[in-house]
Amino acid sequence: MAFCSKCGKAMSPGAVFCPGCGTKVGGSSSGESKLIVYGLTQKFLAGGTLKIYADGILLGEVKKNEKAEYPITNDCVITAKCGINPIKEKTQIKSGITTVIKYEYERVSSSFIAHVSEYV
Ligand SMILES: [Zn+2]
Repeated sequence: MAFCSKCGKAMSPGAVFCPGCGTKVGGSSSGESKLIVYGLTQKFLAGGTLKIYADGILLGEVKKNEKAEYPITNDCVITAKCGINPIKEKTQIKSGITTVIKYEYERVSSSFIAHVSEYV
């Protein structure tokens, strides 16, 4: 059992923020947060490699059925492109937490969507 260094409240293992006073006490050993991006999975998409950008700067590429992890040190906006097609959805991510984005192509609307989840 871990305890908050500020108020002494008991915390669940792995907790980043104290449930009592909100002080940041845990987190990864580097103190940085992470972005995890899952590539597209639909078989019918030819190519399908995603280019991932943070505030317009290329972070890297994620091939179909693969995932990539990037360290995040500042709050930023994540955008992506599939080939030459920009994905409209922008994802605001915060430093200090892990953000997971799963991109999916929606056939009905012919557009890419981003499923975002956050973990502290
Ligand atoms: Zn506390």
